[in-house]
Amino acid sequence: KKRIGVMTSGGDAPGMNAAVRAVVRMTIARGCDAYAIYEGYEGLVQGGDLIKKMAWSDVRGWLSEGGTLIGTARCMAFKERKGRLTGAKHLIEAGIDALVVCGGDGSLTGADLFRSEWPSLVQELIDTEVMTEEQVAPYRHLNIVGLVGSIDNDMSSTDATIGAFSSLHRICEAVDSIGSTALSHSRAFIVEVMGRHCGWLAVMAAVSTGADFVFTPERPPEGEDWESDMCKVLQKHRDMGKRKTIIIVAEGAIDRELKPITPNYLKDICVNRLGLDTRVTTLGHTQRGGTPCAYDRMLATLQGVEAVEAVLDSTPETPSPVIAINENKITRKPLMEAVKLTHSVAEAIGQKDFRKAMELRDPEFAD
Ligand code: ATP
Repeated sequence: KKRIGVMTSGGDAPGMNAAVRAVVRMTIARGCDAYAIYEGYEGLVQGGDLIKKMAWSDVRGWLSEGGTLIGTARCMAFKERKGRLTGAKHLIEAGIDALVVCGGDGSLTGADLFRSEWPSLVQELIDTEVMTEEQVAPYRHLNIVGLVGSIDNDMSSTDATIGAFSSLHRICEAVDSIGSTALSHSRAFIVEVMGRHCGWLAVMAAVSTGADFVFTPERPPEGEDWESDMCKVLQKHRDMGKRKTIIIVAEGAIDRELKPITPNYLKDICVNRLGLDTRVTTLGHTQRGGTPCAYDRMLATLQGVEAVEAVLDSTPETPSPVIAINENKITRKPLMEAVKLTHSVAEAIGQKDFRKAMELRDPEFAD
């Protein structure tokens, strides 16, 4: 009988609760015990009340709750071996032999590191007489399964991360609201959206709201004088009778020299070159909060179920999987390959190899 722990880590994302609910209930449905580890890796390091056995009814109503009800944290201690050793002790004391981690690339890297170090951590607990051979005997192997919770949709190997579509929906609602006031006053708005090194939210928001221009980290504007090119496009739209101008800019947007393209810089261009009455709106944390949309509830539930199946299928030899969605099918992918690919995108951007960054994100789009 497996004892499966579930945790959320890194930035919160709508749908994380639905994922926890699915893992807890599927674990129980499979005749195993479910545990929640509160406050991300902090819960592993501190133990005690932060590791709690979960009953079916403990997750009642969680499908539609935003954020993460079991808490999340950035835990520096877990980045050190000493912190992970304490975490291993607490897991063994609680009798947990598998972990489902829902978080971003950092959280999943930490999870895989924990799994690969696990035999040596257990040995150290014996060698230092913190635990006995008998105590650790059933815990010689730790299963790890990753779920990707992130509003940014920045993880390679999956088409969607849990939370991204809810965030996109919130951005669209906000841009629609901005649109009606922009139209009334014939104004321009520069709307900054989240996404860190990933332009998915910005591009999809621009497509979904019919924005005039979009700036992303992966595909900086081309040409020596992109500012003039942008002005020509905006002016053309005005000449066609448009009374509003919307520019979506990802928080990580850069030019080809890696210099940030800031909303205020774009505002100055709109004011000084086009004479547009221009405002800047930074959407901020409204993009993270609130109820998950239907897609995220569905994605988190199906992936949570698959995560438990993956735990039950795994052997000590199986590399950690991450649960993905590809062309509408829930899939299992090698966790560390997904993380490495994700990091390669950031590296390519850092090396100004934007073509490679686009190919890594989406080979078809790059063509
Ligand atoms: P988001 O995409 O929202 O930032 P994330 O999971 O990438 O999510 P991080 O802050 O990178 O967020 O990581 C969350 C936590 O995971 C860290 O606070 C730390 O406890 C753990 N972690 C991250 N990277 C590592 C690592 N290399 N080794 C061990 N633990 C790590």
